[in-house]
Amino acid sequence: MSTTSRRVAVVGGGIAGLAAALALRTGDDAPEVVVFEGDQRVGGKLHTSPFAGHPAIDEGPDAFLARLPWGTALARSVGLGEQLVSPAAGKAAVWWNGLHDIPQGLLLGMPTDVMALAKSKLISWPGKIRAATEPFRRRTDLQPDSLGGYVRTRFGSEVHVRLVDPLVGSIYAADTDHFSLAAVAQIADLAAKHRSILVAGRKMPAPPTNAGPVFYAPSDGMGALATRTAAAVTEVGAEIHTSTVVATLERDGGRWRVNGGAFDAVVLASPAAASATLVRPFAPETAASLAAIPAADVAMVTLAVPSADWPEHLRALSGYLVPKPMQRLVTATSFGSQKWAHWASPDQVVLRISLGRDGLPVLHLSDEQLLAAAVDDVSRHIGLALQPTHTRVTRWAGAFPQYRPHHAERVAAIQADLPPGLAIAGASYHGIGVPACINSAQKAAAAVRTLLDGLAH
Ligand SMILES: Cc1cc2nc3c(=O)[nH]c(=O)nc-3n(C[C@H](O)[C@H](O)[C@H](O)COP(=O)(O)OP(=O)(O)OC[C@H]3O[C@@H](n4cnc5c(N)ncnc54)[C@H](O)[C@@H]3O)c2cc1C
Repeated sequence: MSTTSRRVAVVGGGIAGLAAALALRTGDDAPEVVVFEGDQRVGGKLHTSPFAGHPAIDEGPDAFLARLPWGTALARSVGLGEQLVSPAAGKAAVWWNGLHDIPQGLLLGMPTDVMALAKSKLISWPGKIRAATEPFRRRTDLQPDSLGGYVRTRFGSEVHVRLVDPLVGSIYAADTDHFSLAAVAQIADLAAKHRSILVAGRKMPAPPTNAGPVFYAPSDGMGALATRTAAAVTEVGAEIHTSTVVATLERDGGRWRVNGGAFDAVVLASPAAASATLVRPFAPETAASLAAIPAADVAMVTLAVPSADWPEHLRALSGYLVPKPMQRLVTATSFGSQKWAHWASPDQVVLRISLGRDGLPVLHLSDEQLLAAAVDDVSRHIGLALQPTHTRVTRWAGAFPQYRPHHAERVAAIQADLPPGLAIAGASYHGIGVPACINSAQKAAAAVRTLLDGLAH
């Protein structure tokens, strides 16, 4: 039987599910593909909407890493290549009883250049001296697999609390004391290969001057990556059913039933907690492992404020991070219309304010309370009583999977134990960034295609 008469279901129409569907339909002998998305729209966390007179301001991610190939390649393949833009203002700060520039020469917050750290006012002299002793410390045991534990052991708690935790924590909405070191590949690779990060950092080649942008985003916002991918998915003949929650996944001999319909294979591109519910009836242990991948809630408050009041000294910044000891509810603020030239207008500044993280719950608060907290915190941080002309509150429940220590082993065990014909993809497993989600989806699609090819012969 050729694979064209085979059917594959994809659960979840976020970027992972859409990328999986596109990959499944690519090439000869592609199976039929049906994407089931519970929400009324595709895209999951990728969501862009009009705000304060601007047609497209992101409610979730506003960019993807250009250094990893999968986001850029997908964007180009769905016709967004000409639309990709990069941030204008690159300089971010850390708020520690005032705004401080982030020192030069950091690798995800870890110093690689002790002289640059010495110039920073963010770290005290005892903190700098402690960090400078890093080359003299013996090799750190990586087995506890705690990012926070590793950084503190090497550089001391100031570098951890004021630099690494806010920088990495803001990417993952994490508390890095409870986050896997191995999951942050840039740091984990250095830690595995070198005893001292500072010594290794000295030997690292400077990034090439023509390295290109660090981040890209479609000028119509990240939502465009989802909607254009969805359009490409339907163009290649797959079906997308929105407002269709997959409530049941059943084994049916060697096949699968998804909401009662028959399929040969299923890609679970839903968050781990949702996938756990689906597999529990026939794979309770795998379900327990999936359910043990927690996810943090966050809220994103978007404000427009009159630019006439906006302090001059903030105009060169893309935003700032707030380290844990200084946090009330706000963890980071992006000065969106300074970060993105195409969001700028003469009369207003657009701010995107992140509230909450792992260990700092926020979604028990009403929209009014979240808005008040955001205005209050940011006003205090920047020394200006914000008077927003437009406001928007986006609630993201379970949005950021938390990679606890030994996450990679847990995911490997889940993948090994999944019954044949099931594959997993998306942010819960091999990286939460958009490119990593796309990569995991393409790998899941390839595994399914291999399985179907095997069935065909
Ligand atoms: C506020 C915020 C800012 C971010 N910033 C960045 C950034 O700047 N850069 C970056 O690279 N990443 C960023 N991320 C992370 C990134 O956006 C996500 O990790 C990624 O988009 C997740 O994609 P996904 O397809 O795995 O999951 P999702 O987008 O969560 O998609 C899963 C989909 O499955 C659906 N679903 C769940 N259960 C079922 C079911 N039973 N039946 C049918 N459908 C179901 C859901 O409705 C959802 O649409 C950010 C995330 C957030 C929330």
